[in-house]
Amino acid sequence: MQLTIRNLSKTYSNGVQALKDVSLDIETGMYGLLGPNGAGKSTLMRTLATLQDADSGTATLGDIDVLKDKDALRRVLGYLPQEFGVYPRISATEMLDHLAVLKGIPGNQRKEVVSALLQRVNLWDHRKKAVSSYSGGMRQRFGIAQALLGDPKLIIVDEPTAGLDPGERNRFYNLLSEIGENVIVILSTHIVEDVKELCSNMAIINNGQVLYAGAPEVSLLALQGKVWQKSILKSEVDAYQQEYGSRLISSKLVAGKPIIHVYDENMPGEGFQASTASLEEVFFAKINGVA
Ligand code: ADP
Repeated sequence: MQLTIRNLSKTYSNGVQALKDVSLDIETGMYGLLGPNGAGKSTLMRTLATLQDADSGTATLGDIDVLKDKDALRRVLGYLPQEFGVYPRISATEMLDHLAVLKGIPGNQRKEVVSALLQRVNLWDHRKKAVSSYSGGMRQRFGIAQALLGDPKLIIVDEPTAGLDPGERNRFYNLLSEIGENVIVILSTHIVEDVKELCSNMAIINNGQVLYAGAPEVSLLALQGKVWQKSILKSEVDAYQQEYGSRLISSKLVAGKPIIHVYDENMPGEGFQASTASLEEVFFAKINGVA
């Protein structure tokens, strides 16, 4: 199964062009859609989830025309939106059962399906508690359980790790990575680490445009030998920013001292050292438009 997206564009009524001619080929496995806030990720995710329409372009999943045959797409879609509503006092079991009814899972299978999913996302011991009382991490795992109802072929998770603490995030990563080899999972995120940990392929988008599509490792290779780092004083940050402009792709504090990374074909100045590029540098180099 492959998801083929061609020339998708979308302009909102306020004039914001959220998608500009987006084309992507997405194969089975975990696919990262990485971009800063406002890049257009949710617009793309919501369009693929048939919740809103694009102005132009096409998307096909196998032989399903995603944008036209919405019912067919919904039958094979699992979607975890950025925010999902939960009812107060309704337990995880009850809510999942209710959602299973909506998904059309036959009555004689529901109990088994619901139990298996609650076990799979490690919420069995908490199944009788209200989802509204869950921690952020538990809630996201519940979100995955509902997205897995009905054995979807395309699973879309929109910014799933925002707001999770490191432990919760790890448990969530483990769960996502177990989902399966025969489905497409698209993970939209502004967190580089999400993609680094989970995704064999990715796209970087900003201002509605695809800046890179491919394997993370390939993007790293392209930056090899072109990223330079230097430890500077806090008082010097502005001056370096001025001097290097968008080639200064990151400035991080390490033990309270700024370390800057500059993108350049050659050593950009005195005191710089060659640095191995990380996915974060790829991200900022692309976003800044220098690589
Ligand atoms: P992301 O998910 O990457 O943060 P979005 O797809 O939510 O990006 O937003 C892309 C751009 O479209 C942003 O500039 C945002 O403000 C704008 N936008 C999103 N939804 C709407 C809407 N319903 N009406 C008008 N503008 C919107």
